[in-house]
Amino acid sequence: MISPGATVGVLGGGQLGRMLGLSARRMGYRVHTLAPESDSPLGQIADRTVVADYDDLDAVADFARGVDVTTFEFENVPFAAAETAADYGQGPVRPKGGVLHIAQHRRREKDFLSQTGFPTADFEHVADRDALTHALEHIGRPAVLKTAGFGYDGKGQSVIRPDDDADDAWHAIGAGEAVLEAMVDFDREVSVVGARGVDGAFTHFGVTENRHRDHILDVCLPDAPLDSNIADEAVAIARGVLESLDVVGVLCVEFFLTKSGELLVNELAPRPHNSGHFSFDACVTSQFEQQLRTVCGLPMGDTRRLAPSAMVNLLGDCWANGDPNWGAALADPSIKLHLYGKAEPRPGRKMGHITAFADTSEAAAEKALAVRASLAGATLD
Ligand code: AMP
Repeated sequence: MISPGATVGVLGGGQLGRMLGLSARRMGYRVHTLAPESDSPLGQIADRTVVADYDDLDAVADFARGVDVTTFEFENVPFAAAETAADYGQGPVRPKGGVLHIAQHRRREKDFLSQTGFPTADFEHVADRDALTHALEHIGRPAVLKTAGFGYDGKGQSVIRPDDDADDAWHAIGAGEAVLEAMVDFDREVSVVGARGVDGAFTHFGVTENRHRDHILDVCLPDAPLDSNIADEAVAIARGVLESLDVVGVLCVEFFLTKSGELLVNELAPRPHNSGHFSFDACVTSQFEQQLRTVCGLPMGDTRRLAPSAMVNLLGDCWANGDPNWGAALADPSIKLHLYGKAEPRPGRKMGHITAFADTSEAAAEKALAVRASLAGATLD
């Protein structure tokens, strides 16, 4: 067990690392981060920041020698960095680098899912432009072309509709290795954040309904009202994925729920997920504390809800007319405001989120959306 007082090393300095870091500091751990940018969301609250690129393997090795366990806060950390940390670090890398290797590459991820028997949309690997023509013949249209590596929030994706020129999509995603997926006519998108301990114990944060805008998560409703068989199946699939990958840590499985009630796995995120942010305020133990507990080999905490809640993201767009009116947001005492310490509010950039509480998740979502609307276009109180 890596006990309180030890040092947790995080590759990556974004908001997920910041919320892990806050949980770690609360339990008496020290936190180090390695990230390419100075003044990162995690760097602002960490004991130590190493500013280095992830492919500076000497810096990664040095970093890992100075911490008791290494984890990562997003999946686009190169696999070589995780391997280097495992080889030269004084403690383990959790989850192990192999999980990162699969989850950071869509073809490997899709191959893993289909070969292990988890349901996905039809897909084909696209190695070059000719392969795209063949894949379109098999998959049909509409279809979604996605870069194989380093995509998130809909980046590196292009939809190919019946009358579209496939060339445009091919160039739009950068004319490189890709995956072509059938377009799913889904009823809803849902996800399960699961956590697995060194002893194989499993906990989860229920099934969350995720509503997107412009391919970016917008609103999350925990404990989506679903047929209990579907909810149980989603949790069973998530558990199966964590077990098959031998994850020690937190991993989120994102699903499409089709109109006929079928669950298809869309993506895996081997870390806390935006759809689990509600847990920071609304659960006995948050996904971030659970990540800390699992990677440190502590017993897991209770994931029980304290109250019905919902979360909405605050993107840089909220700053379009100047500084948001925080006073209006905080006038409701049941609103919890999270800002990630990012200086530059670019459109589409995740700057923070709001958790709202009400009698139901749906009512909480309405409240959070109204609060967000009241932020824009106002001057700071
Ligand atoms: P991803 O980055 O793959 O999670 O995609 C971002 C969002 O794009 C998803 O959450 C969906 O809203 C949409 N999307 C991605 N793939 C598909 C698909 N095969 N069919 C329909 N919508 C999709």
